[in-house]
Amino acid sequence: MLKGPDNAIMLKGPDNATLTELGRRLVSGSLSDAAVQRATEATPSLALLPWVNVVKIGGQSIMDRGRGAVGPVVDEIVANLHRHKMILGTGAGTRARHVYSVAIDLGLPIGVLTVLGTAVAWQNAQMLQYLLAKHGIAFLEPEGFAALPHYLMERGAVICQGMPPYKLWQANPLVGRIPPQRTDTGCFLIAEVFGARKMIYVKDEDGLYTADPKKDSGATHIPRISVQDLLTRDLDDLVVERAVLELMLNARNIREIQFVNGLKPGQLTAALDGEPVGSTIFNAADGDAA
Ligand code: ADP
Ligand code: MG
Repeated sequence: MLKGPDNAIMLKGPDNATLTELGRRLVSGSLSDAAVQRATEATPSLALLPWVNVVKIGGQSIMDRGRGAVGPVVDEIVANLHRHKMILGTGAGTRARHVYSVAIDLGLPIGVLTVLGTAVAWQNAQMLQYLLAKHGIAFLEPEGFAALPHYLMERGAVICQGMPPYKLWQANPLVGRIPPQRTDTGCFLIAEVFGARKMIYVKDEDGLYTADPKKDSGATHIPRISVQDLLTRDLDDLVVERAVLELMLNARNIREIQFVNGLKPGQLTAALDGEPVGSTIFNAADGDAA
């Protein structure tokens, strides 16, 4: 019997000769083997769409406010169409909170709540897409993402709903019955997999505060903080789903995320232009001290 590095049993036959060293280890070893897993770190991750910006338009914070809030955000998106390429993901918001409450009352599991929340984020994506339709902006389901680069090159933006496509497969949270990975997370994961230039969240506050500014008038603004520091602070409430902070720790492409106030015209544009508006949460593993 042939033994390779770490005593992994090697495949025999002509195919083995065409494999890289990593290939030999992967086909013959266990994918759970820590040494095999470490060996897969050797090549850098590729940023597929390094020029695209993922922009999440808040559900409760923007869409649910109707024309007064959505109109100026749409105008700002249009003004940026030929300046920055954007994947526009939508949040769910108040209708999702209502349907969660009904479904929890009925005893339905978290996976079913996720199906329901996805339908609400989808409604918001539909509305945003029809508002942008005259600019040639299309709505894409995850199954259609293979066409996403083409739409971005042709029209400068696409719309998607923000929920990750887990639906019934959503994992349970540690505590409670709210689906833990919702639209902040889905948009973050799109940015990460495509190696996006920026992940920008458009909500209704100037970014992150020491507490929810709607409930605590003494809350102070945090313009820039590391994800590690923020997790250590363990704030009672956050401007972003906690799952995003946890995913940031292992992200390979996205090094920081930014939060801007969509109720203040110009903040989204400033963020797209690379200005430090709102709040930024960064990964301190890069040695960025600020
Ligand atoms: P979305 O509309 O994108 O789903 P959410 O309503 O879930 O956005 O989250 C944004 C809200 O989070 C803000 O409107 C704010 O009231 C609240 N919030 C809670 N904690 C904080 C905090 N520490 N800093 C800023 N905002 C916070
Ligand atoms: Mg939210």
